[in-house]
Amino acid sequence: MFKLETIISLAKRRGFVFQSSEIYGGINGCWDYGPLGVELLLNLKNAWWREMTFRDDIEGLDASILMHPKVWEASGHLMQFSDPMIDNKTSKARYRADNLIEDHIAKLRKKNKNDEANECEKALGLAQEPADFYKIIIDYGITDPVSGTADWTDVRNFNLMFKTFIGSLDDAASTIYLRPESAQGIFVNFKNVMESGRQKIPFGIAQIGKAFRNEINTKNFLFRTREFEQMEMQYFVKPGEEKEWIEYWKEQRWNWYVKYGMKPEKLRWKEHEKLAHYANYAVDIEFEFPFGFGEIEGIHSRTDFDLMAHQKLSGKKLEFVDTVTKERYVPYIVETSGGVSRGLMAFLCNAYDEEITEDNGEKRVVLRFHHKLAPVQVAVFPLVNKDGMPEKAHAIYKDLQKYFKTQYDTSGAIGRRYRRQDEIGTPYCITIDGDTLANNTVTIRERDSMQQETINADNIRNYLFEKFTE
Ligand code: ATP
Repeated sequence: MFKLETIISLAKRRGFVFQSSEIYGGINGCWDYGPLGVELLLNLKNAWWREMTFRDDIEGLDASILMHPKVWEASGHLMQFSDPMIDNKTSKARYRADNLIEDHIAKLRKKNKNDEANECEKALGLAQEPADFYKIIIDYGITDPVSGTADWTDVRNFNLMFKTFIGSLDDAASTIYLRPESAQGIFVNFKNVMESGRQKIPFGIAQIGKAFRNEINTKNFLFRTREFEQMEMQYFVKPGEEKEWIEYWKEQRWNWYVKYGMKPEKLRWKEHEKLAHYANYAVDIEFEFPFGFGEIEGIHSRTDFDLMAHQKLSGKKLEFVDTVTKERYVPYIVETSGGVSRGLMAFLCNAYDEEITEDNGEKRVVLRFHHKLAPVQVAVFPLVNKDGMPEKAHAIYKDLQKYFKTQYDTSGAIGRRYRRQDEIGTPYCITIDGDTLANNTVTIRERDSMQQETINADNIRNYLFEKFTE
């Protein structure tokens, strides 16, 4: 397992991810995607979009981030979307009370105090109100990891939605929220999409978009941020059929991660014990990050909670009418909700590898991305900067650039140029050498196997098209 710091440092050095507003000291929980990061992000979203919407029963949507405030009243986010928070008076540090208790349980387990850990875990499972969390923290003598004291404030609920104002009025009447999940944009458009897309139950709506949560503790790089992107699909089904659809979507989503190169041994299922207010079943796909397993996508059975709530508050019917059986009902919803940024981090950790090469015994850092996710698809090098090679190489580069994300590199020994591309995960490198000028052949080297093939220069484009449509 490689260290997260190693991956973060590569991500910064090679232009995948930068801290937001870095020249001002950064801002917690916000990150910027650099030239390679944005390509990876787009490839990831594209892979998801194709998988989810290139089929008969799913339509796409791009809803606005700002929504009518009543949406959050109906969805329950205004009342319930909060985390229990506690402050240490000495260190002034703020924690999520449940995380503090979880860390304590992990410490107890490390010290083999399993009975006490089990007891504490049971109490945490039952905790609902702020006072319940507070009692556990006091009963188990949990201290602040920074100050070492138990000098705690009460536990308070902290709503995670970012508030702002619409228009020029600074009063409650004009308060709106940055959406904390993209799902609600889908629910309020359920009828619009069903009717315009001439869909019938079962069908789904897919959306990729930003969401914002004022998380109390942001940590672990892109894992928990305050601004992030989600790729969500809400599948509308007949009540009673949700269990079958959960099974179907579980399989689809797991296979998607594996199809794009995720090592199956780094993935696992985790069923929720505590359910959100809208769910009757929830399971997560977790990925093994350098700091341990963490959720990358949730598959949730949301029942008819959201549509019923919007129907009630808006007074607009959100039903499906079956024209054959004449049945009318508010559909149940099965959602697949994945994080784009968290997913990107998982794919980055999954791809990172170091090896000692056989030819010269040097360390090779390589990002083993699936070729469809790789930010740069192909690199072109003239072997030496003379004898007409740069001119020929540049012409090939310009041609490939019309179809592929291509880089051109003339600097340093060829081995160094390979290493630079390995480090960003470029699947193919093409070298133009003396043979190219003599008999129009080039060498194509594949990243993982480092195998080299000689092909005719006129076939490069087709060779790559075949590889990238595989
Ligand atoms: P967690 O328990 O980690 O806070 P959650 O269960 O609240 O996450 P969901 O509401 O199910 O998460 O969101 C769906 C997906 O959105 C998650 O699987 C994750 O990939 C992503 N996500 C949620 N919160 C964040 C965040 N703060 N930063 C980055 N991605 C996030």
